[in-house]
Amino acid sequence: MVVTLIEWEKLGNGKWKKKNLYVTGNVHTKRKINPDSPDYAKRLQRTMEKIFIYCEECKKKYCLANPCIHHLPDSPEGKAKLEAYKKKQKAARSEGINNQTVLDNT
Ligand SMILES: [Zn+2]
Repeated sequence: MVVTLIEWEKLGNGKWKKKNLYVTGNVHTKRKINPDSPDYAKRLQRTMEKIFIYCEECKKKYCLANPCIHHLPDSPEGKAKLEAYKKKQKAARSEGINNQTVLDNT
């Protein structure tokens, strides 16, 4: 089982920054990506693209680089995505579209 842990750091201007991403494949491997590395964002993205986690609600795996709506990170980015998703669902309903996705259970 792959465990990922993202540490967030609150900056003085109220924004959040990804501090560290730990990926543990087993107890013997713990990789830390250096956030000061010039290609940090690229490496982080590449690492996350390789991580797939099973979602009980979707009944399928999602990619950590593009998580499903149930597994958005607890970060401003994730919250913004969730808000956008909710808005979209609401808009779809108000337009009278018979939306039968499994996610639409509110
Ligand atoms: Zn899901």
